[in-house]
Amino acid sequence: MKKPIKIAAIGGSGFYDWDRLAQTREARVKTPFGPHSGPVLVGELGGVPIAFLPRHCRGHRLLPAEVNSRANIYALKTLGVERIIGFGAVGSLKEELSPRHFFFPDQVVDETKARRGTFFGDGIVAHVAFAQPFCKDQTEVLYEETKRLGIAALKGGVYACMEGPLFSTLAESEYHRRLGYSIIGMTVMPEAKLAREAEICYTSVAMITDYDCWKPGEEVSTSMVVENLSANNGNARRLLEAAVPRLAALPRRCPCGRALEGAIFTDPAFIDKKTAAKLKAIIGKHLK
Ligand SMILES: [Zn+2]
Repeated sequence: MKKPIKIAAIGGSGFYDWDRLAQTREARVKTPFGPHSGPVLVGELGGVPIAFLPRHCRGHRLLPAEVNSRANIYALKTLGVERIIGFGAVGSLKEELSPRHFFFPDQVVDETKARRGTFFGDGIVAHVAFAQPFCKDQTEVLYEETKRLGIAALKGGVYACMEGPLFSTLAESEYHRRLGYSIIGMTVMPEAKLAREAEICYTSVAMITDYDCWKPGEEVSTSMVVENLSANNGNARRLLEAAVPRLAALPRRCPCGRALEGAIFTDPAFIDKKTAAKLKAIIGKHLK
């Protein structure tokens, strides 16, 4: 019998392939939300089954706002995934978070404008708690392993998620700094929201490539960003190799897997069969 795939990594800019996986195959899942970001690479890492999905597709063909996060999360949920490690390139808003640091935010402010951030609607209403947007237990393991590998890392602080695809203006960068936010990126939302609705533990591993545009003398140059991206993605792969076996053995005592308990407000008698069938992978166990 095949072992279930409980862990998934989502790769960001510069992280599209992963040759360290053994026994790989490509999986495609038909979702009610359309196609996911290309085939999901399924394989084993140190004997642990794992799925890998490059968020922007191989070849980097999707803008942050074009990523179909609903299809991506739905596909991973259908494969049985309970834990997602979401990698992404970000800009730093704080002096101490220098390029090539790994940052583990514990909060997020969603400033995106045109993205579908929920599986619900079409006759089913749910309001899911999201005060703590990232899985604490899982994030702690990833943070510890990052430090153990000698990769500079900090945790705790706010990820500001902007719409993009353009980078910040100077006024925006200074505004976010005044608000005390730590980093700025374009992709954690709605991915983290949807993972929570799907009752999947989610960690954002934000890999710093630059100082956004606020720091005099540290203006972004493309060649510098590309070099930092490549170094960060090498470290991302090392982190996965170190952390995945630990995550596979981590007991799931966090509340993430029960996020929908009591959250569906719609009277089951009024839920249309077609909509219930569409969301079966997400809400099936709550509609019995
Ligand atoms: Zn969790």
